[in-house]
Amino acid sequence: MTILEDAKKGIITDEMKAVAKAEGVTEDFIRRGMAQGRIVIPISPYRDVKLCGIGQGLRTKVNCSIGTSSDIVDVEMEVKKAKEGARAGADTLMELSTGGDFYDIRRRVVEATPLSVGSVPLYQAFIEAARKDGAVIHLKEDDLFRITEEQAKLGTNFMAIHTGINTETVKRLQNQGRHGGLCSRGGAFLVAWMLHNKKENPLYSEFDYLCEILKEHEVTLSTGNGMRAGAVHDATDRAQVQELIINAELGDKAHEQGIQVIVEGPGHVPLDQIETNVKLMKSLSGNKPFYMLGPIVTDIAPGYDDRVAAIGAAISSMHGADFICYVTPAEHLALPTVEDVYEGVMSSRIAAHIGDMIKLGKTERDKEMGHARRDLDWDTQFALAMDPERARKIRSERMPADRDACTMCGDYCALKIVHDYIKKRD
Ligand code: SF4
Repeated sequence: MTILEDAKKGIITDEMKAVAKAEGVTEDFIRRGMAQGRIVIPISPYRDVKLCGIGQGLRTKVNCSIGTSSDIVDVEMEVKKAKEGARAGADTLMELSTGGDFYDIRRRVVEATPLSVGSVPLYQAFIEAARKDGAVIHLKEDDLFRITEEQAKLGTNFMAIHTGINTETVKRLQNQGRHGGLCSRGGAFLVAWMLHNKKENPLYSEFDYLCEILKEHEVTLSTGNGMRAGAVHDATDRAQVQELIINAELGDKAHEQGIQVIVEGPGHVPLDQIETNVKLMKSLSGNKPFYMLGPIVTDIAPGYDDRVAAIGAAISSMHGADFICYVTPAEHLALPTVEDVYEGVMSSRIAAHIGDMIKLGKTERDKEMGHARRDLDWDTQFALAMDPERARKIRSERMPADRDACTMCGDYCALKIVHDYIKKRD
């Protein structure tokens, strides 16, 4: 019996209890949310993880993605990135390698992290086909399912699977065209394979078989967003919405079979379309947990895309997105470094918190920070900071003559000048 089947039967498991405690909600809130498909707890029968509840009414979670590329295969560095992502406070980790020995990399990353790990099995399946037979179009359908099962047995907790790309979706993409092309690697592999072989996507046509594998190994399905826009001018286009509708239908089917489901969203989205995207996805999917990738809200700031995505993520979270995939400053430019991973996770965590201040009314810590600043209580300010280490370092490198103030205003510290004349509110 899967954890979702437990929830549907009214059983509260230890995992539900742990998540309820961490989130400050009742155990039955978690159980009901899971039974109705609004909350997931990605687990695996193959390893214990730091449990993470994702969904409506819970803190917005942040995913950190790492992985080799065909150009840079440095397993040690990927393991460091996995650890750095956890140190920066990521809630989950996706291992998305596309270069080197897939099995070895995933095994080492899974061993190195306490976090729930996600993967995209079709990367491995298509790239192994390219290595063996010269091109991704030579993939054998069975390999998609075999590799999904192999990765599940390595302790993968959730998988992004591109179930919503079918012949209709591809036609819409071709007929409409795109300003920014197709930016999803998984989407591009599948579309190339389908068009060359004139066949339906096996992950769509054999969805029942896929569900058997996911259920047997208790993997949470994250319905992949292979049609996501790679440019803000393509946001919310017909191909993306078509894929979302199919994924919403398949998500219901998987949920009925006892499989936990997350629905992935876009991509590149201008500010004024974020709310629409979140509400459309929630409405179509029956309020399943929404996994927003970024989103990037302008295309002209390469080098700063962690901040660009943080703006989009804050608004997404405010409107109901449950799970945010981080973006690093190296996005669109290069494979991220260990430092980029840290920056990306911090930017997304800050964004998720900003959204939660509105979505969940989580503002107490901000109020306490206001008081600590008013009272020039530096230790409390550091304790409340999302990155205490960085805050301490900046202050200590530029210490003022007056230890109560800081070197921004020095002798003319506004807070100090009027401190004794203004009533304090608690
Ligand atoms: S010196 Fe200026 S910036 Fe620094 S604590 Fe005082 S008012 Fe704030």
